[in-house]
Amino acid sequence: LEQESKTDPLTHLYNRRGMLELLTREMTRSKRYNRPCSLIMCDIDYFKTINDKYGHDGGDQCLIALSQLLHQQLRTQDAMSRWGGEEFLIMLPETNQQQAMVVADKLRQSVAQTPFHYRNQRIALSITAGVAEFDTRSGLEASIERADRALYQGKQNGRNRCIAAMQLVSEWE
Ligand code: GH3
Ligand code: MG
Ligand code: MG
Repeated sequence: LEQESKTDPLTHLYNRRGMLELLTREMTRSKRYNRPCSLIMCDIDYFKTINDKYGHDGGDQCLIALSQLLHQQLRTQDAMSRWGGEEFLIMLPETNQQQAMVVADKLRQSVAQTPFHYRNQRIALSITAGVAEFDTRSGLEASIERADRALYQGKQNGRNRCIAAMQLVSEWE
């Protein structure tokens, strides 16, 4: 029952609640030991069109297959969640922003190169991702917000791409 309350029933990934618990724990650890940790916020491009074309069940099957494709490429210490409808938040402990960008782009490419299938139809999908390293001074919410803003920029710049969040000015001084 405890496990169920933290899991998304469709994809079996962590739901937002389960992920928030892990993130909070990891933020504390990252701060205490001064270790990097990064976030990848990804969102499926034009998912409304997928639902319109293939129906809600077709959309659901895409969500399941895409979740598996991303999840199988992560390391055991990483955590992946279904953050919203077709939005996934991934946490990469011991990973700085630059390294996380490499992971994010590998994930993005794998989606772009993989044909998904539903009732004998081939479905092409892509994702856009925002990448942000934990900023332990401004906290968890602010760090998620930075990943979110980077994702939004990626959408505005044309989708199917990864964008790194702006580093804080003080880091450049
Ligand atoms: P964008 O590239 O800007 O992200 O376009 P989009 O169409 O993906 O964006 P938007 O966020 O407007 O639409 C997301 C859609 O995802 C709307 C909703 O119907 C669909 N969706 C959310 N949750 C589920 C789900 O559990 N199953 C299915 N099949 N669709 C879902
Ligand atoms: Mg979308
Ligand atoms: Mg969305």
